[in-house]
Parts: sequence; C-alpha cells; structure tokens
Amino acid sequence: MLLQKNIIMSLQNDIENLFSLQKKEWPQLNDAILKLDDVMVKQLNWGDNISVKVQFNPARITSTGAKIDKKFIDERPCFLCEQNRPSEQKGIIFLDKYLILCNPFPILRNHLTIPLFSHVPQRIRHKVSEMLTLTEKLPDYVVFYNGPKSGASAPDHFHLQAGLKTAELTQGDNELRSCLIIEGSTISECTELFEEVYQYLRTLQPEEEEPMLNIITFMEGDRYKIHIFPRKAHRPKQYYEEGSKKLLISPGALDMSGMIITVREEDFNKIEKQDIEDIYMQVSLPIM
Ligand SMILES: [Zn+2]
Repeated sequence: MLLQKNIIMSLQNDIENLFSLQKKEWPQLNDAILKLDDVMVKQLNWGDNISVKVQFNPARITSTGAKIDKKFIDERPCFLCEQNRPSEQKGIIFLDKYLILCNPFPILRNHLTIPLFSHVPQRIRHKVSEMLTLTEKLPDYVVFYNGPKSGASAPDHFHLQAGLKTAELTQGDNELRSCLIIEGSTISECTELFEEVYQYLRTLQPEEEEPMLNIITFMEGDRYKIHIFPRKAHRPKQYYEEGSKKLLISPGALDMSGMIITVREEDFNKIEKQDIEDIYMQVSLPIM
C-alpha cells in the first residue's frame, strides 16, 4: 500500500515539477497562471446545496469561440499534434501514448491538457479505463472529457484535461441539469457500468457518432467516481444572439459541473440565475 501511495504521489510531484520548469521557460504560461490569481469569480446559490461559480476569463475566447465545423477543422493545423505545439511546451509521457501538458489557457489551478500522441478523433467509449487510470494517479485532481460536439475545441484529436479539484466541480446531480453518477471500487467495474450508460445514451441519439456528453472523474477516498452530463445542444441560443441578449458561453465539462466560463466582461456582469437555469435547460439532456 505504501508503494502504491508513493507511485500516486510521484505523478502529482512530476506535474508540480513540470509546472515549475515550464513557468520559467515559457513566459506565456507564466503570465497566464499569474492572471488566474486575479480572475474575477462570482458565486450564485440555489438554496443551501446548489451553487454555480461564474469565472471571467478572457483568455478562453479561443476555445469559447472555436469553430468546429468539419471543413474548418480539416483545414487548420491541429494544435495538439506535436509539430504544431508551441516549441516551449514540454510534457510527461503517460501510458506510453499520452502526453501530459500544461494548458496555456488555464481555468483551474494546474490545468493540464492530455492528448494522445496520435491524431485520432475525440471518442471516449474505449478510453474510459485509461481516463480512470490517470484519475487514480491524480487524487487531488479532477480529470475531464468534452465530447466532439459538447465543448471540445479539438474534436479531431483525442484529449483529456485535468486540474486541481474544487468543491463546485464535484457536486454531482442537481435540479439545474442532468448528471449520471457511476461509482465503484475498481476500474473494471466502473468501465462496465460506463458501457451500459453509453449504450443507453446511444439509443437516445442514434444519429450521433458519439452521444453528446461531458464527463468528469475523480477519486473520493479509494473509490472512483464518474459524473456523466448528457447533452442535447452544443451551445445555447444566447451564444448566437447579438446585442444585449448575447451571452458568449460555450459549455464544456467544467460549466456543466458548476463552473461557468465567461470570456466577455459584460457577460460576467449581467449573467443571473435565470440565465444559468435557461442555459442548462437548453444544453442538458433530461434523463427520466
Ligand atoms: Zn492532432
């Protein structure tokens, strides 16, 4: 057990060391992490048990505004492929096929992007066990996945993300949006349960290559937790409005969990509880 614990701590330590080195070698990352210290956040509450934090993070405009239509994606250089990544960006190899990288547009503390080496589409079905293997080695983190039409800005290159755990991200099911929860003591048990949920969601959206979803995973003691947020829309209608009705919000796993990212100050200032209720209603798929 002690050995196990040492292995766990070692990946988290390696990541701390990676951040220390990368902040020295890569000024853009250092600036982005410093800005996160001053980021504006407001908390909205529904009773005592439900809360959503809204973060004003203008650097996320690239991701929030990302085009994901096939023609655009096919023609742009993929920013997760090795030849197109910033030359300063260094990583940690994981499972001989992933690279753990510092995300230069952080939302969370120690925000990581974890692409596969190979350029293959964003599909989670056969990769949940690898996601949980990573989760197990990062007990202080949440690991998350955005489906290709549910917030991923690189739908053509498989990647996970991770960052330090916060309470609003792990609150699970509530009346604002659907969240299916899988919990277990082994990766194989959780992977089997995930397959059942996946197959069920597939029956609801047979026309999609993958049921629309976001996933967040984390450890609670020695138990694995998977929170699945089924989706019915990529973006709410406010995203496409003009003028005062516009809210430039493109929800991914963190937004669905309870941390909504705004990239324009006017949106951060004006967003209220009823806007959040409305956005969740539009993008979350109710499960009976
Ligand atoms: Zn790629």
